[in-house]
Amino acid sequence: MGSDSPPLHVFFFPLMAHGHMIPMVDMAGLFGSRGVHCTIVTTPANQPFISKSIGKVQCLGFEIRVRTIPFPAAKAGLPEGCENLDMVPSPAYVNNFVEASMLLREPFEELLEEERPDCLVGDMFFPWSTESAAKLGIPRLVFHGTSYFALCAGEVVRAEKPYLFASSDTEPFVIPGLPDEIKLTRSQLPMNLLENKSMILAQVLDDARTSELTSFGVVFNSFYELEPAYADYYTTVLKRRAWQIGPLSLCNRDAEEKAARGKQSSIDQHECLKWLDSKEPDSVVYVCFGSTCKFLDDQLAEIASALEASGQNFIWVIRRISESEPEHFLPEGFEERVQDRALLIRGWAPQVLILDHPSVGGFVSHCGWNSTLEAISAGLPMVTWPVFAEQFYNEKLVTDLLKIGVSVGTQKWAQLVGDHVQKETIQKAVLQIMEGEEAAERRSRARQLGMLARQAVEKDGSSYTSLTNLLADLKKSKKVYSSSTSQNSTTV
Ligand code: UDP
Repeated sequence: MGSDSPPLHVFFFPLMAHGHMIPMVDMAGLFGSRGVHCTIVTTPANQPFISKSIGKVQCLGFEIRVRTIPFPAAKAGLPEGCENLDMVPSPAYVNNFVEASMLLREPFEELLEEERPDCLVGDMFFPWSTESAAKLGIPRLVFHGTSYFALCAGEVVRAEKPYLFASSDTEPFVIPGLPDEIKLTRSQLPMNLLENKSMILAQVLDDARTSELTSFGVVFNSFYELEPAYADYYTTVLKRRAWQIGPLSLCNRDAEEKAARGKQSSIDQHECLKWLDSKEPDSVVYVCFGSTCKFLDDQLAEIASALEASGQNFIWVIRRISESEPEHFLPEGFEERVQDRALLIRGWAPQVLILDHPSVGGFVSHCGWNSTLEAISAGLPMVTWPVFAEQFYNEKLVTDLLKIGVSVGTQKWAQLVGDHVQKETIQKAVLQIMEGEEAAERRSRARQLGMLARQAVEKDGSSYTSLTNLLADLKKSKKVYSSSTSQNSTTV
């Protein structure tokens, strides 16, 4: 930005879910590194996660602050203090959580009025924020937190309803009109959301689409070289304005920054690095299903047996549905038998720190977009195990288009709790990404993508330039707005 103009002040307002907060906090750090003054808005219980993550960038002198507004948990029928999606007592409460998020509008607009920033980056789950920004005459950018591919595919599925032509829930159908032939089944889609518009979540997703059309545009945590055909499809066929400025996780350069993302890590970062240092390059499988997916104990037992039988070194981040109950799912003697080659993390792992370590050779993932892009940035092949949200689309990108993944074959979209996968299937998929000629080819493709990802965010790379263009566009819009308000004030 030119030094002659005052800095832009941008508001960042992520949904209270780690998969949304983490990339937006990274985004604020990135904007801050370009001289933008940033304010991240969240609720009191979420503030510590964000303050912890931005500590380092604040030390670097970037202007980043956090402001809070109250979260109306009780009003929406949630337990008091339940302010993050990973705290909802069961999938049945997801709708209550979405309802609470809608109720944030009033306090958020009061804060917006008080601070009067130049731009708002509002989460897709706050479709009303386009109007909130419009009241102040400032642009709102939408952040979906997913890939171009998933948004394009999702848009076509919603508009064309190709699933209606499949003869059963398990018969594959082709998503028409996309640059590639992509097949899905009805059971891999959230049919209750697509066909039952009375659900609050379905309404919010519909509103999100409308509000995107009237917003200033969309910022993507992606990079052009990863999905060029879909970046182009989004802007030329779907005719949306977009800037891809990722991978955002790459703005965390050192171990402290990587380990500080999200919740407090359940393992000391040095202990974790020491363990990884003791292993051969590409020899460790990292297993983690994001911030909200949890499994039933019998599924966890299958995962344990599969990892043991695979003979690989592994780090397994364990999150159970029945966390308050005593833990009995591990096979008898499991921890003793795998103690030299396994690190079990119950709770939160420093994921990017782990993925970026040279000993890690593969990632078993639920295909949340952040995890997927973090794996790509680290140049890693994946075992894909989608559960819900847009994860089945992300799986297709990883397995069919980028060809860096092997699917465990989950078939059923399910809110937070996925379908059951047998030990043998998991073991086979793990070995397919870790051993043999095809694994080597997959790894080599993944490494190439990792290199492209790093190039994209370096000076003059595609994402770097896209952010430069976005900031220039925001500056222009600020000038237009300031001159229109000053003209108004002289005529009044
Ligand atoms: N994450 C982490 N440690 C964990 C679990 C998740 O650091 O133990 C981070 C992960 O690196 C990613 C985010 O949480 O940035 C999860 O986002 P994703 O989109 O992959 O999945 P979601 O949680 O939204 O389902």
